[in-house]
Amino acid sequence: MNADGTVNRAALPAIFNPEDLKALEMALQVKEQLGDTEVVVLTMGPERAATIIRESLSRGADRGIIISDARFAGSDTLATSYALSCAISKIGQVDLVMGGRQAIDGDTAQVGPQVAEKLNLPQITYAERLVAVDGKSITVTRRLDNGVETVQAPLPALVTVTASAADCRYPHAHRLLRFAKTRPEIWNADDVNPDFSRLGKNGSPTKVKKIDNVVLAHKESQRVGDNKEELNALMATLVADHIVG
Ligand SMILES: Cc1cc2nc3c(=O)[nH]c(=O)nc-3n(C[C@H](O)[C@H](O)[C@H](O)COP(=O)(O)OP(=O)(O)OC[C@H]3O[C@@H](n4cnc5c(N)ncnc54)[C@H](O)[C@@H]3O)c2cc1C
Repeated sequence: MNADGTVNRAALPAIFNPEDLKALEMALQVKEQLGDTEVVVLTMGPERAATIIRESLSRGADRGIIISDARFAGSDTLATSYALSCAISKIGQVDLVMGGRQAIDGDTAQVGPQVAEKLNLPQITYAERLVAVDGKSITVTRRLDNGVETVQAPLPALVTVTASAADCRYPHAHRLLRFAKTRPEIWNADDVNPDFSRLGKNGSPTKVKKIDNVVLAHKESQRVGDNKEELNALMATLVADHIVG
């Protein structure tokens, strides 16, 4: 972390958020079912997010856009969803907005629903499988704790896709070569025509005050031998303590 409570991104690799990859797969399935459809990948981040756009193109997306500007830095979910919703409005006529349920680092699952609210779109969260789509509606199954629900929403709509959805298809070899050096479209803050007071740190009411690293002390750990008896005893204790089971 940086001293101001933001993530030190320079120290971290840029990866494709796993649930966003699942959303890309569902978007590509929609395209297969509907035919004349453009899949546009949009991400907010520093310019090195270009690798994510190139990967999306090699997996089958048609177009990629990064909104990148130091004025977006420090955004919490509120400011992030605002910036994304401005960019989606600039893209224009959008029938479906699809994203992963949550980011692997942030873990809040707030950005998708907040984008839907800002764009005044009906939303389906926790989508697992595309059942049907036509020009007027989308039907998906939702993965819930205690079962599966099938829901339909009129288009335009926003769908967030959960980890149990289908894995994304592999990149096509010829598309990998074709897009290896592609420079995606990059829009800065001015390009998305925002209210600047709602961007970045200015627009983020969430402030991280303090972060503690929890290191388990020796007395809190227990060594278990690699034999059935000791493992069974450990399992019995975990079940009795309601930790598993
Ligand atoms: C324990 C904990 C709990 C939290 N709980 C919540 C919560 O409940 N709700 C909530 O909203 N937030 C929550 N947060 C997130 C917190 O609000 C963010 O950490 C903070 O807003 C800043 O985000 P960051 O550290 O990722 O900063 P940054 O690294 O600045 O990133 C913020 C965003 O800005 C983007 N960005 C950075 N630089 C650029 C650039 N040049 N161009 C374009 N985009 C850029 C990043 O890609 C990212 O999307 C929590 C964080 C922690 C650590």
